[in-house]
Amino acid sequence: KLYNEVQDLKGNIRVYCRIRPFLPGQCQKKTAIEYIGENGELVVANPLKQGKDNHRLFKFNKVFDLAATQEEVFLDTQPLIRSVLDGYNVCIFAYGQTGSGKTYTMSGPNLSSIEDWGVNYRALNDLFHNSQSRKNSIAYEVCVQMVEIYNEQVRDLLSGDSSQKRLGIWNTTLPNGLAVPDASIHPVKSTEDVLELMNIGLMNRAFGATALNERSSRSHSVLTVHVRGIDLESDDVLRGCLHLVDLAGSERVDRSEATGDRLREAQHINKSLSALGDVIFALAQKSPHVPYRNSKLTQVLQSSLGGQAKTLMFVQLNPDVESYSETISTLKFAERVS
Ligand code: ADP
Ligand code: MG
Repeated sequence: KLYNEVQDLKGNIRVYCRIRPFLPGQCQKKTAIEYIGENGELVVANPLKQGKDNHRLFKFNKVFDLAATQEEVFLDTQPLIRSVLDGYNVCIFAYGQTGSGKTYTMSGPNLSSIEDWGVNYRALNDLFHNSQSRKNSIAYEVCVQMVEIYNEQVRDLLSGDSSQKRLGIWNTTLPNGLAVPDASIHPVKSTEDVLELMNIGLMNRAFGATALNERSSRSHSVLTVHVRGIDLESDDVLRGCLHLVDLAGSERVDRSEATGDRLREAQHINKSLSALGDVIFALAQKSPHVPYRNSKLTQVLQSSLGGQAKTLMFVQLNPDVESYSETISTLKFAERVS
């Protein structure tokens, strides 16, 4: 049944929109979100315009409103996650301006509270749980990698001396054509193992950054989960791969204000996000040429974008009117690829 659900996904690309609630102290603010429909409709209102032409309608596979819980969001993601155990490659990423809830959706605000867990932990938990329940017919092995892409350089977040080492994109191509980034690979047997590794990854990510949040808003982090299953009767081997991506903030940087390092960062982010958009657009158009090679990000994610792979994008929005122009630019990115 799950299999069919996944097969039914239109064009292998799904787009979910999630709007974060106002934060404490922001409750008096005005919102630019006018209407959220049952079937994925979203209407935003331009605060600067009056009258009837100040509304714009966008359409998604689903819109999660301010009240949506982490669990609700995960339930709509679960069939996709489970297909990894059947040998599919899956890519899930969160796109949006800094502060729009990308990290909240992917990782959650707080690792110590299970209720707060984001897609990452729930996904791995679910994979372990389901591989266990199949253990009499298929023996699964799960390994993870975690890299950061910053200024078009790939850095291993899980190796001891990650601070300086720059990585090539891959050193191994597995028999099914899956390319593996040249980063340390860690076997994991339980959700606890994963939590431990991700804490190391987060600490390494903060290395050299003045504040974790600053750095994390300007780099992409990619958690890759490799699954290998051996059919105990036939000895057949299946492989699936899951990429979980927390993208750099999509906000445009004012050219007149940014100089030096900040400008360079902004240009790299811009380049890689538009390369990602171009790849997904080409896939959605069923174009024969997919421009994977234009950025490190699309090269790292290549195995889970296109072909039989399933892609899910969370489009993250801020609710307030002050964010209106970033909201529109985020929605335009989504509109192009859906
Ligand atoms: P981003 O990663 O896009 O920069 P964050 O995930 O860090 O954004 O979210 C910004 C702030 O908003 C954080 O304090 C986060 O806890 C909060 N937040 C985001 N989404 C939600 C949500 N759905 N419910 C409650 N708080 C949220
Ligand atoms: Mg973040």
